[in-house]
Amino acid sequence: MRIDILTLFPDMCEAVLGDSIIGRARVSGAVEIHCHNIRDYTTDKHGRVDDAPYGGGMGMIMSVQPIYDCYRALFDDCSEKPHVIYMSPKGKTFDQKKAIELSGREHIVLLCGHYEGIDQRVLDEIVDEEISIGDYVLTGGEMAAVVVTDAVCRMLPGVLSDEICFTEESHFSGLLEYPQYTRPAEWHGKKVPDVLLSGHHKNIEKWRREQALLTTIEKRPEMLKNAELTKADKKFLESIEYSE
Ligand code: SAM
Repeated sequence: MRIDILTLFPDMCEAVLGDSIIGRARVSGAVEIHCHNIRDYTTDKHGRVDDAPYGGGMGMIMSVQPIYDCYRALFDDCSEKPHVIYMSPKGKTFDQKKAIELSGREHIVLLCGHYEGIDQRVLDEIVDEEISIGDYVLTGGEMAAVVVTDAVCRMLPGVLSDEICFTEESHFSGLLEYPQYTRPAEWHGKKVPDVLLSGHHKNIEKWRREQALLTTIEKRPEMLKNAELTKADKKFLESIEYSE
C-alpha cells in the first residue's frame, strides 16, 4: 500500500512515522509512505501558500494553486486516481471500521489543512472524502493524518508479527480488549489472575472473552449493541443477568 501525505509541515509527520513499528514497516517495504511539502509547489515569489478569506474574518485560508499543483505533479502520472482524503473536523469520525476499509486500498492521499482551512474549490475538485479524528479542532491536519496512517498501516501484512495482534484488540470485533498482564506474577500485593498462569489455553480463551465483555459493559456499554456476539457470549451475558 502507498500513502502520500500533503502538508505544509512534513517534518511533523516524518517525526512520528519514521519511528517504531511504522518506521520499520517502511524500511522493510511493507508500506510506502511519502510526506510532501505543499509549499514546494507554490508559484508565489515570496513562497506564500495562503491568503485572507473573502468576506472578511479571522485567520488565513490555504490557497488553491499550491495544493492543486502539488496534487497534479505527484499523481497525474498514476495509472489510477488515488483515493484523496481531506483531514477535517467536518468529516465523518474515524473508527476501526474505516481503518479496515482504508487498509484494503492500494493508494491513499491524506491532505492536511492548516490555519483556518483550505479554499473550498480545490477540495471540491480533488477530495473523495473528509475524515475527522474527533469532535474537536486541531491547529492542523498533520496529527490527524498520522493517526489515520498508523491505524491503517498496522493492519497491513508484515507490519505486526501476526494478524491476531490486531484482530483480538479493542474495537476490531466491536468489543474492548480484556485486561493484560506480564511478569512479575505478583506486584504490590496484586496477583495476576490464576487462569493466566494455568497454561490451560481453552480456559484462558474463555476468561479473556468474558473479560472483554465485562470491560465493554463497564467502559463502553453502547458498543455491545453492534458487537458480533457468539452463542457463548449471549449465554455469559444471561448468566450475569446483563440487560441494556
Ligand atoms: N476553520 C475550520 C473549521 O472550523 O472547521 C478549522 C480549521 S483547523 C484550525 C485547521 C486544519 O486542521 C483543518 O483544515 C484540518 O485539516 C485540520 N483539523 C482540525 N481539526 C481536525 C480534526 N478533528 N480531524 C481532522 N483534521 C482536523
